[in-house]
Order: sequence, then C-alpha cells, then structure tokens
Amino acid sequence: MDKEFKKRYIIKLGLRLACAAAAGIILFVALKSYGLGWLVSSAAGAAAFFVASLALKVHELLAPGFDGVVTSKTVRYVTTQNKQNVPEYELVVTDPRGREHKDIFLDKEDEGKLNRIEYYDHGERVRKHRGFKYFEKFDKSGKNSVVCIDCGTLNPSMRERCINCGLPLLRESIKE
Ligand SMILES: [Zn+2]
Repeated sequence: MDKEFKKRYIIKLGLRLACAAAAGIILFVALKSYGLGWLVSSAAGAAAFFVASLALKVHELLAPGFDGVVTSKTVRYVTTQNKQNVPEYELVVTDPRGREHKDIFLDKEDEGKLNRIEYYDHGERVRKHRGFKYFEKFDKSGKNSVVCIDCGTLNPSMRERCINCGLPLLRESIKE
C-alpha cells in the first residue's frame, strides 16, 4: 500500500481516537469538578474512552486485512419508508479462518446501473486491506469498473482516482 493509503488510514484512525479521547476527558473533567476523587474520575474517563472507541468501531480499523473468497451474492426486495420493492444486495466474503464478512447495499435509486455488489463475481478472490471497508478484486482483467476500497464508489476503470473521495484507485490485478 502506498503513502496515500497510509495517510488516509492514519487520518481515519486518528479522528476516531481523538473523538473517543474527547469523550473520556469530558467525563473525567465533569466528574472531577463535581467533587469525585482522581481514581473514580480517571476510571470513569477510561471507561468512556473504551465505550466511545467501540461505538466508533475503532476495532474494525485495527483488524488486519486478509485475502478471501466471494461465497455468496444475493438480492432481496425490501420496503422502505417511501418505496416498495427496493433491491437490497448482499455480498458475503469468507476469510481464510472461515469467518463471513458482509457488505449490504440498498439500491434506493434502482437505475439499473452496475452496483458494487454486482461488481464482484461469485467464487472470485478478493483482498481486504486493513482500515478499508471494501474489497479489492484479485483479477481486474476485462473489467470496465474499479471499486474504491474506502468509499465503495464504482469508478470507470480509466480513472486514476476515485470520483467521490479522490483516493487513488487500485487498478492493477493482484499477482499471486
Ligand atoms: Zn472513494
């Protein structure tokens, strides 16, 4: 992974940790000024930090990447507040330890455009990079689109960078 991916990762992780730390510090200061002791205030502040980290899904950013296989691709129709029969796509990627990782995409506009779930083929190998949510295809030959691993936008394969978030696109196939 090159520098820009590392930078994006550090910014994401840093922002979430900073928010969690802020929650801990605010609670600590509040309890301390309320007259509680150092020990109780510190313990409550640390607990708030951990709860906030969990809520902000910091653990997902820290989890290592892996190479997996697309084991399921399904679509079902759901009813939302303003519409009936909205297609909801689900992708399941199984990692080498047999755990399933899901990506669900609700196609609210349903314009018949290729979406990021349809982009993957059943049975193909994909790579999950640490700190990024979406899967990179191993074999990108003959594809007109490439997915952004950070925001999930499907880009035309001639683009260098994501049209939505500007991150460089991983356009080369992964060599074994
Ligand atoms: Zn993007």
